[in-house]
This record gives sequence, C-alpha cells and structure tokens, in this order.
Amino acid sequence: MSRQMARPLESRERPPAASGAPRLLVLVVLGTALLVLIRIGLNVGAEHPANPPPVTPSPGYFPLTSTPFPTPSPRPTPLPGTPAVLPIGIVAGHWGNDTGAICDGWLREVDVNLAVAWRVVKGLEAAGYPTDLLEEFDPRLEGYRARALVSIHADACLYPEASGFKVARVEESAIPSVEDRLVACLISRYGARTGLPFHEGSVTPDMTQYHTFYEVDPATPGAIIEIGFLLADRDILLNQQDLIAQGIVDGILCFLRGETP
Ligand SMILES: [Zn+2]
Repeated sequence: MSRQMARPLESRERPPAASGAPRLLVLVVLGTALLVLIRIGLNVGAEHPANPPPVTPSPGYFPLTSTPFPTPSPRPTPLPGTPAVLPIGIVAGHWGNDTGAICDGWLREVDVNLAVAWRVVKGLEAAGYPTDLLEEFDPRLEGYRARALVSIHADACLYPEASGFKVARVEESAIPSVEDRLVACLISRYGARTGLPFHEGSVTPDMTQYHTFYEVDPATPGAIIEIGFLLADRDILLNQQDLIAQGIVDGILCFLRGETP
C-alpha cells in the first residue's frame, strides 16, 4: 500500500470534529445540570416557606427585637437608717417558756417583757426596719443572722431599794467593739428617754453568759437589757410602756445609724 492510499483511510477513521454524538452529550449534561438546579431551587423553597410557623419561646429564649433590653437599674446604696435585708431580732424574755420573776403573786415578768417587746417591734418597723418578735427559746435563734438582737427582761422585786436598768453583751464576744457600741447606744438612749439610772453593779453572769448569745450567728451583734426593777420601777414599767419601748428603739437606731452613743 502506498502512503497516499493510507491517508484517506486515516482520515475516514478519524472522527469528525463536530459529529452528532458529542453535541448530544453536551445537551444531556446541560439538561441534567438544569434539572439539578431546579430540584435544588424547589427544595430550598420547601424548607423556607413564605410564612414560617410561629416559634414557641422556650425558657431562656429571648426574641431579638428592635427594642433593646431594659438595663437593670443599679441597686441603690442604702442610706443610713434605710431598711436592709437582715432583720432585727427582739426577744421577749421568758416568752413561750416560763413566767420569769413573779411579784406579789400576780405580776409576771414575762407579761411586762412581752408588752414592751411588742412595742419595740412596732417602733422599729415604723422606722422602716423589718423586725422579728422572738420567744425565749425561739427555734429561729439557732444560727440567727440579724442586724442586731436585743433580749428584753425585767429585774425581780427582791430588793426594794434597787432601781434602774442594766445592759450587757456576751463575755466572749466574736465582735467585741461592735457589741460594745450596741451596749453603749442602749445605755445612752434608754437612760435619756426613760430617766432611769444605769444599775451597773448588778450585771450578772445570767446576762453576760445569756444562752441566746451562744445560739445566734457569732456575727449577729447581741445585747440583753434589764429594763428596770419590778418593785421600785413598777410604775414606769407598767404605765409607761410606750416610753420604755421608745428608749430601746432609740438605742437600736443609734447603733444601726452609726451615731455616737
Ligand atoms: Zn428575766
């Protein structure tokens, strides 16, 4: 065979540059791509309907809106004399437990203590301080936390000549300077309001080792006051209980407000 014979054969075997089969292939590919795009478009539309169902808020869910969240106002700094979270505790001596001293067969110390304690609570609440009225062995006293705790008692009528009041804090105080100031405020204000003398000499271990001091939280400033003697001071203790109570309120407010005793 000559080379010239072979050429036409070569040219016949070579496929034409643009035959019908490749054109069909391109059309099939383009058509498939178009279908895929249409499918994708339909799916996207199905997953994002024009009107989505409402979202039910779950706990902790906050919708984003154009309205900004309100900024919490800062907690105001308590001014002297304004109420605080902790209460004041007032113990009505012997209340819920026993009578305390009994004079002349009818006058019970517990009745005087409770009448005065109730008035002290009312006075402190009127001044804006939440206050608890507590029994002698009140279950709340265990670990009790308070801005101040004052237990109110009255002295027996064994000594006709004895007159006046006494105030003491626990012997082994965890906060001696704080409790000394509470005691000083009570002595100063109670004496000024009632005119009764301070009967310092008869402060007894009953007062300085008073059981309540050991029950409350050591950080609770506590004091015990003997408001007067049930014999020599009977008139003021029975007939001027508002004045007696106001003297104790004055002393506690002096302490809470940081006044000089
Ligand atoms: Zn007593």
